[in-house]
Amino acid sequence: MEKYIGKGVYGAIAIGKISVFKRKEVSVKRTRIEDTEQEKQRVEAAKALATEQLQEIYDKALKEVGEANAQIFEIHMMMLEDMDYNDSIQNIIDTQSVNAEYAVAVTSDNFAEMFSAMEDAYMKERAADIKDISNRLIRNLQSEGEDNSSSDDKVIICSDDLAPSETVLLDKDKVLAFVTSHGSSNSHTAILARNMNIPAIIGAGDEFLKAIKDGDDAIVDGFTGEIFINPDEETRARLIAKQQQDDEKKKLLQNLKGKENVTLDGKNINIYANIGSVDNIGAVLLNDAGGIGLFRSEFLYLESEDYPTEEQQFVAYKKVLESMAGKKVIIRTLDIGADKQVDYFGLKKEENPALGYRAIRICLTRPEVFKTQLRALYRASAYGNLGIMFPMITSVSELEKILAICEEVKSELVSEGVEISDKIELGIMIETPAAAVISDLLAPMVDFFSVGTNDLTQYTLACDRQNPELEDFIDTHHEAILRLIKMAADNAHNHGAWIGICGELAADTTLTETFMRMGIDELSVSPGFVLKVRDTVRSLDLSK
Ligand code: PEP
Ligand code: MG
Repeated sequence: MEKYIGKGVYGAIAIGKISVFKRKEVSVKRTRIEDTEQEKQRVEAAKALATEQLQEIYDKALKEVGEANAQIFEIHMMMLEDMDYNDSIQNIIDTQSVNAEYAVAVTSDNFAEMFSAMEDAYMKERAADIKDISNRLIRNLQSEGEDNSSSDDKVIICSDDLAPSETVLLDKDKVLAFVTSHGSSNSHTAILARNMNIPAIIGAGDEFLKAIKDGDDAIVDGFTGEIFINPDEETRARLIAKQQQDDEKKKLLQNLKGKENVTLDGKNINIYANIGSVDNIGAVLLNDAGGIGLFRSEFLYLESEDYPTEEQQFVAYKKVLESMAGKKVIIRTLDIGADKQVDYFGLKKEENPALGYRAIRICLTRPEVFKTQLRALYRASAYGNLGIMFPMITSVSELEKILAICEEVKSELVSEGVEISDKIELGIMIETPAAAVISDLLAPMVDFFSVGTNDLTQYTLACDRQNPELEDFIDTHHEAILRLIKMAADNAHNHGAWIGICGELAADTTLTETFMRMGIDELSVSPGFVLKVRDTVRSLDLSK
């Protein structure tokens, strides 16, 4: 038996077999090839497929985001045919007798570097496009003969790290637990694991990854962060007993279903759930959440190969609203960028992505994408009790622009005769220190605030939430964060708005009392935490 220790991000126990995550976009290796002609034919086939894919994307984009935005895909098709680019790939294959993937990767690096070095801003930007088309070619080359071996057994997925886009694409019914050798506890992957109610451990270390192989027996203890490989009988028996105890505790919490979120002295609070996908609604209902406090709509974009259409989004939002049968559903508009990367957005690589071009900044500079989502949201509003929330707000002027676009979309729909609810609430996330500090100016403009403590923590403490080295520096209970939340709560209430918390801190039951004393009106947590928070609320006496 071997034991490794990381940090548990969801407390539960999983017993099963290891499956080492195979990344689709594996790093390109240089391999010597005898038959260079065949290698060049592989490039041609990958190119033909890429052209087909890009044509499809172009047609869709033309319909959905207009010609100006679709043009980029036409440019990509032209780049694919560029003589210099193609000559370079062929020459590398011929002169070095290497595999196609390697030749494409080297060409991509060379061309991207050349474009980046140009003075002209337009040409500089083409570096990202070269990378984009090259990655498409490499993906097409690598998907030949892809290993689709899959079994029906649930497995413990182990990896160096998982990007949110990789996590969402995993077949959830087959995942017993996640263990990553790197990663940080507030990363979106950790959040997804919590949303899925499965044990997850991050930062198990490089040695762990080196030591394991597919099919190894393992036990994951998400409470302690321990992973046992080929556990001995005594360990197995101990953890089976612990798993049973945990199941018992969770069953006991089930008795709280249907009960109020009320303190011993009669103070109420709403407890809602966070979801990332329509598939999570079952867990929301099962755990008796009073509503949905955060639907991370960007996962619709991550799950998709291309911009989800207005109709696709409408269907998803309508389904969530209808399933919640009149309970509040707060859908957050697109929060893409930083660690949530989607190829088809063609975002440039950034030095500091968390401080970069993300969320509302993308929506305000690509109004077609934003309007498509808003149209879908307003159309869906007729089917339930909708709140729309905007992420990463830092200023009044941003909010003014957003509200103007909302009005524009609304009147467009009204003139088309579309039915829209007149009870939609509009809110913003308080997840930058700037938003908290000017919350007195923002509150009169909205119906509600929702505090995103994950980002608020990283920006306040200047600690990248993705960086595992900083785990020890991230004090989630830091006085600065609590003061900012209190400030936002007071300002919300002074201007007739309500305030919730939807970051991971909302589920930290050691702070439930603090939040209730601040007057927080709603806590939105992963579905699996709803009853635990209810249990805590019911044990408090705020009169003391
Ligand atoms: C947050 O920042 O706290 C939040 C809820 O948003 P996300 O985790 O999706 O960035
Ligand atoms: Mg956030």
